[in-house]
Amino acid sequence: MVEELPDVVDVLVIGAGQSGLASAHRLLQRGFAPAIDPVAGPAAGSPGGSPTGPAIDRVAGPADGPAADPATRPGRADLRRRAPSSGRTFLVLDAEDGPGGAWRHRWPTLTMATVNGIHDLPGAALPDPDPAEPARQTLPRYFGEYERSFGLPVLRPVRVLSVQRHDDDPHGLLDVATTRGTLQARAVMSATGTWSRPFWPVVPGKESFAGVQLHTHDYPGPGPFRGRRVAVVGGGISGVGHVREIAEVAEVFWYTRTPPRWTDEPFDVRAGLGVERRVEERVEAGLRPLPVVAETGLYRSPALQRDIDSGVLARRPMFTEILPYGVREQSGEVTEVDVILWATGFRHELRHLTPLGVRTRQGGVYVRGTSVVGEPRLHLVGYGPAASTIGATRAARRAVAQIVGYLDGAGR
Ligand SMILES: Cc1cc2nc3c(=O)[nH]c(=O)nc-3n(C[C@H](O)[C@H](O)[C@H](O)COP(=O)(O)OP(=O)(O)OC[C@H]3O[C@@H](n4cnc5c(N)ncnc54)[C@H](O)[C@@H]3O)c2cc1C
Repeated sequence: MVEELPDVVDVLVIGAGQSGLASAHRLLQRGFAPAIDPVAGPAAGSPGGSPTGPAIDRVAGPADGPAADPATRPGRADLRRRAPSSGRTFLVLDAEDGPGGAWRHRWPTLTMATVNGIHDLPGAALPDPDPAEPARQTLPRYFGEYERSFGLPVLRPVRVLSVQRHDDDPHGLLDVATTRGTLQARAVMSATGTWSRPFWPVVPGKESFAGVQLHTHDYPGPGPFRGRRVAVVGGGISGVGHVREIAEVAEVFWYTRTPPRWTDEPFDVRAGLGVERRVEERVEAGLRPLPVVAETGLYRSPALQRDIDSGVLARRPMFTEILPYGVREQSGEVTEVDVILWATGFRHELRHLTPLGVRTRQGGVYVRGTSVVGEPRLHLVGYGPAASTIGATRAARRAVAQIVGYLDGAGR
C-alpha cells in the first residue's frame, strides 16, 4: 500500500540520514506526534545489506563514555523524557528506497574500521560494529532498526521538489511539492546532506578525455582499476583513501590544488568543536561551507606516514589541462592516464529551497545556528558546521528548540 501524504503537518523533516533521524527523535521527545502511522519500514540494509543485525541498544552505549559530547549523550531516561503529546505533528520524507541516508551509497571498501568515526544516533547506541563490515551495510541496518524502534514516521521514497511560501503571512504555511503530491508545513527542517551534489571542478579539456572519469560518488573500490594508470584529484580524506587503495592494484598519480596539510593531532571531540566554531563563523557570513579537512588538516597516522615515506602519497600540483589520453602537468609535461577519479567533494543539497530565495551570491545561506535568517520557519540540519555525525545531533536539538519557540509564538 502506498501511504498518502497528510494535508498539513506542523513540522516536515526532509531527509532521513543522521540529521533527519536525530531531528525526528528530538521532535518525538518534545511531544510531536507522527503524522502518519509509522509502518514497519522496509527491510533494513543497503544494497546487499542484511536485514537481520543485532538489535540496537536504545538506552546506553559507547557514547556514554568519557569522550561523548554531553549534549548528545543518550541515557537510560531517554525514552521516559519524551513529553506528553503537544497536539503537534511531524513527518519525515526521504528520497531513498530504504534506511541509511548517504551511507547506503558509500563505496564497498569503506568499512567500519576505515570510516572517520561514527557518532551514535541519539538515544540508541550502535551495537559493537564489525570493523571489517562495509559501513554501507552496518549503518543502514542501524538506521532501519532505529526508525522501527522509535516508531519514526518516515515515508519513502519521496523526494521533495520545492518548498515555497503559501502567502505573505510570515507565520503562514509553507507549500511543499513532492514526487508523491503536495502538503503544507508550518516549519521545515531540511536535512538533505550533500551526497546528491558531487562537485566536479571545471578544468580545460575535460570533455576531450577519452578514458574514464568518475567521482567519489561512484567510486566502486579499487578492483576495476587493476593495471590501469589512474589520476586521483583531491586532497581530502576520501582522496587520500582512494590513492592508498588503488595504489595496491594500479599506478596512481595524486593531484591537489594546494599541498596537503598534515597534522600529527588525531581528530577528537574537542578539536571537532573548535572546527565547528570556525565553520560556523564562515557559514553565518553567508559563505559556502568548506570541507572539514580545510580546517582540521589530515591526520598523519603511522600507516599514513608509511605511505608518505614510500612515495604512495606523493602529491603533484594540480594539472593544468586534460588531454584525450592524459593530463598536462604544471611543468608542461604530459602524464598518460586511463582514468581520472575526482575526489573533489560535495556541495550541500539545497535545490528544493530555491523558491524561498534564501541562497546567497557566495553559494551559502545566511544562518544563525540552524535557523535561516529572515525565514524562521526553515532550519538547515547537518549544514556547514553540523555536517558530521556528531554535529547532526546537536543541530537537531537546537533546531527543534527554536521551532518549538516559533510555533509557541505563532500560537500553534
Ligand atoms: C565520503 C564521505 C564520508 C564521510 N564519512 C564520515 C564519517 O566517517 N564520520 C562522520 O561523522 N561524518 C562523515 N561524513 C559526513 C557525513 O556525510 C555526515 O556525517 C552524515 O552522514 C550526514 O548525514 P545527513 O543526514 O546530514 O546526510 P545524508 O546521510 O546524506 O542524508 C540525507 C538524506 O536526505 C535525502 N534527501 C536529499 N535530498 C532530498 C529531497 N529533496 N527530498 C527528500 N529527501 C532528500 C537523501 O536521500 C538522504 O537520505 C562523510 C561524508 C562523506 C561525503
